[in-house]
Amino acid sequence: MSSVQVAVVTGSNKGIGLAIVRALCKQFPGDVYLTARDPGRGQEAVAKLQGEGLHALFHQLDIDDLQSIRALRDFLKEKYGGLNVLVNNAGIAFKVHDTTPFAVQAEVTLKTNFFGTRNVCAELLPLVKPYGKVVNVSSMVSSSALRSCSQELQQKFRSDTITEDELVKLMTKFVEDTKKGVHDKEGWPNTAYGVSKIGVTVLSRIQARMLNEERKGDRILLNACCPGWVRTDMAGPKATKSPEEGAETPVYLALLPSDADGPHGQFVSEKTVRTW
Ligand code: NAP
Repeated sequence: MSSVQVAVVTGSNKGIGLAIVRALCKQFPGDVYLTARDPGRGQEAVAKLQGEGLHALFHQLDIDDLQSIRALRDFLKEKYGGLNVLVNNAGIAFKVHDTTPFAVQAEVTLKTNFFGTRNVCAELLPLVKPYGKVVNVSSMVSSSALRSCSQELQQKFRSDTITEDELVKLMTKFVEDTKKGVHDKEGWPNTAYGVSKIGVTVLSRIQARMLNEERKGDRILLNACCPGWVRTDMAGPKATKSPEEGAETPVYLALLPSDADGPHGQFVSEKTVRTW
């Protein structure tokens, strides 16, 4: 088993994820895994970095596919005995003018952004080594969507005692409410992406709390963050930041020094802790 440190970035064949891998290749003292659901696109991205003189390794990972997640888990366990840095970056968003019915958008968006990310965490968090870092890429949209929720939902999502099961039930309820056409009445905002990212931010707060309760001595730091508005296929060419600029906050959180006590369990943007 290798004693080399290892970092994994999900959805990193393009966009912010690729920029995070690029930065980690330059700054992380260990092996850096670029992962992609499509091996062809993944290997192409690795070759692109190779052309820049950077050495990333590749492993397939589709966060919608439990078998794929478990194959990566087994690989990391066997080769490295765990992992040191996990960046949950993979995500999807329907375009504003997409005419896909809202209920379908809700189901598809939540499936990847919330449930997929949660499944990766369920399989990989137990493998994270002491002093490890976990970064869940959420969005400022999670904060604006939170403010558009009913007072009752806001209270639940801001609660310091909400459990993962309760959060999963709420995310499931959102999808069901959109199918019944009652999501408005039930206090949900009109954004599937926003609700999925509320899920990611709240999940991060819960996971950090669980680490405090169950693995306090391991000093693992886990946070959610927003990369900013970034020029990628998701956000389009009018966005204000380059992918490299978008990678700055996630990379800052992934490389927090080993003697850092925080941030932990926070929502961070521009390297600054934001009020949730
Ligand atoms: P992007 O350019 O569309 O890249 C998304 C990446 O996620 C791609 O590599 C994509 O792979 C991958 N992905 C999607 N579904 C996946 C799955 N099931 N399994 C594995 N990988 C999957 O988007 P981006 O702008 O870089 O976004 C990266 C993250 O930042 C997302 O979580 C997004 O919500 C968040 N974010 C972005 C912005 C922004 O302004 N861009 C702002 C706030 C937050 P394929 O190439 O195979 O599709």
